[in-house]
Amino acid sequence: MIKKFAIVLMFCAGLIFTGCGKKEAFNDDLTTIQQRGELIVGVKTDTKPFGYYDEKRNLIGYDIDLAKYIAKALLGSEKRVKFVPVTPSNRIMKLESKEVDVLIATMSVTNQRKQIVNFSTPYYMAGQAMLVRENSNVTSLKSLAGKSVIIVFGSTSEKNIRDNVPGVVILGYRTYPEAFAALKAKKADAMIADDTILWGYALSDKTVKLLPERYSQEPYAVAFRKSEESKKLETKLDIVINTMISSRQLEKLQKKWGIFNP
Ligand code: GLU
Repeated sequence: MIKKFAIVLMFCAGLIFTGCGKKEAFNDDLTTIQQRGELIVGVKTDTKPFGYYDEKRNLIGYDIDLAKYIAKALLGSEKRVKFVPVTPSNRIMKLESKEVDVLIATMSVTNQRKQIVNFSTPYYMAGQAMLVRENSNVTSLKSLAGKSVIIVFGSTSEKNIRDNVPGVVILGYRTYPEAFAALKAKKADAMIADDTILWGYALSDKTVKLLPERYSQEPYAVAFRKSEESKKLETKLDIVINTMISSRQLEKLQKKWGIFNP
């Protein structure tokens, strides 16, 4: 009887120790995702062709495909991903508050952002450009002095325009469709944003045109919380992205979404 009791006691102690070990591993982001069986990704839902809804309300785009690919690499199925809509001004907050595991949201790597979040290897290169109405006499960033420009709050173009064109009147919007509607409604002289985002508008609407100049380089990357817990996840995703680059899988995705620019 005593022997039996001792065996049960040892078994329980073993469980407690294993439990302790598990608790430590549970704090790690990659393990948390694997135990949950789902990757939670902050994505854009208004940014064609990166993250947007089609006519059937399916969320599609290049960032969406990339997130599915990563879910498959981590969890064995591209269905094991949940999307949470984010905007440029709330995405870091949603990452920090752990509402999402990572951001795949047309987010450019900048030195300022690197103080707050970590980034993966870039998975796309965009550049800022300007969209104007068809008959506009605005031809460059400089010609905007004394005029007005539309930006989306929290985007790199907001910072760029504030730093480089003193005296310009800035109108900020929360989303790209709202910003574009404001340009169409003549609320300002131009709209500045990433070329990849503006292309979609320029291609589908002949009352606007995209100017040829590019004002920045915008390397898009996956963003992680700046913490010890995310290190393993970062390493894993960098391997996935680098393999996608070397196997030209990423190029294939870019061609699929019409954003391949060699
Ligand atoms: N890539 C730019 C940025 O990270 C603009 C696109 C966006 O607003 O997400 O700010």
